[in-house]
Amino acid sequence: MKSASPETEKEDAYSSRETWPPYTYRDYPDIAPETYKEFMEFLSTENTTNRVMELQPWISFCDSKCTFCFYPTNPYSRSVLELYLEALKKELMMYAKTKYVQTSEFDEIVLGGGTPSLLSIDQMIDLIKYCENNFNTTDDYKIKVSGTSRSFDKKKLEAAAEYGVYQVDIGAQTFDDKIRKMLNLPDSAEQVEQEIKAARKLGLCTCIDIMYNIPGQTLESWVNSIKKAIELDVEVDCYCLEVQPGTVLYNQMKAGKVPPQPDEELERKMYATAYEMFTQAGYTPVGHDRFSRVEWHIKENCLNQWPWSGILTTGSGCIMGYLQRFSYSNIESAEDYIAAVNEGKLPIAKLSKSTDEEMMRKVMTKLYIRLPINKLEFKEKFGKLPEDVYPKQLEKLEKEGLIEIDEKEIKLTKLGDLWKANIAWEFTEKK
Ligand code: SF4
Repeated sequence: MKSASPETEKEDAYSSRETWPPYTYRDYPDIAPETYKEFMEFLSTENTTNRVMELQPWISFCDSKCTFCFYPTNPYSRSVLELYLEALKKELMMYAKTKYVQTSEFDEIVLGGGTPSLLSIDQMIDLIKYCENNFNTTDDYKIKVSGTSRSFDKKKLEAAAEYGVYQVDIGAQTFDDKIRKMLNLPDSAEQVEQEIKAARKLGLCTCIDIMYNIPGQTLESWVNSIKKAIELDVEVDCYCLEVQPGTVLYNQMKAGKVPPQPDEELERKMYATAYEMFTQAGYTPVGHDRFSRVEWHIKENCLNQWPWSGILTTGSGCIMGYLQRFSYSNIESAEDYIAAVNEGKLPIAKLSKSTDEEMMRKVMTKLYIRLPINKLEFKEKFGKLPEDVYPKQLEKLEKEGLIEIDEKEIKLTKLGDLWKANIAWEFTEKK
């Protein structure tokens, strides 16, 4: 079998690596009245799936804009944030009152964004309590808060740990100060390191994002970030930077103001190096891009249940919300969001309902999130096996050594891990 080790990074099942899977929020259609009506009808039914869900209130405000960021965020303003939090609670309540949510259980409350760490301690705890009081949680549910090192000051971390927050997610991105400056990340690598150490000292599970494929990034710089992450004993989301049109970084690259991104060969080498270094340090590759040493993450429920369960995401600009066949994202501007909620409307901007064919394709994207496809479950849902629906794709992928198939399941090989987004795209049409 081929191996995706640094020595064999030239293995080329495809000519270039995809980094995004199909079915991202970018493809959702704008909200249509008939789909909205169906969604509301769906929300008035009971949740009979017996699958846990994730609750995500978003704080889509940031105090500066990273040059690579394509997320719909709003500039931080204390007064708008206060109005926003009121609206966010109203939106949460609209869902909390539905039969579907009342018959659902949540195993995670995740303050996402954006930069939730911009909230004051009181605002943060108040929002968490609001979620706990109005949604059913499992006995061992986890609370997670994401943010930047500069807004997670020591007091906030202490208050979070004391309240029972399980995890903080910190967008470290890189420990290379030169690159930090180029990406408009205001705090230094040293400051990031100190905040991570403070969180770890408080016993908080700490997950950081680090990125490769950054313009001008060398293998050495990337290896240093990996070493630092391992040394700090954190969970790591390793993202391959995809520079999106419309971002500041995209325009800077086009104008030649920043160096080009690493070439295809170096990008693969960066991925393969991370894979080897993390796995040798005892990490397991899980989810989209994570390397984990935490048992609970390795078994994480919400991902395991994709695409049959749900992530109830709320707040302006929230993306990738889904409840069974429905996928949605919200209005992006905080002001328009507040206005819509105050008029009593669910602030959804894009909404789609998947057909059986689309659900089958979504099931196949489990390979992208490093999960096996249960063939029996597939047959129970759709009346046929994956091999009956995708004979050519599966034969090709197995022959290439990218997947393994047995009587029970289909799963990625180590080489397949390198090409997981390309593999996901095999089961859908490129638009
Ligand atoms: S902190 Fe996160 S959401 Fe905010 S601008 Fe940077 S990457 Fe985007």
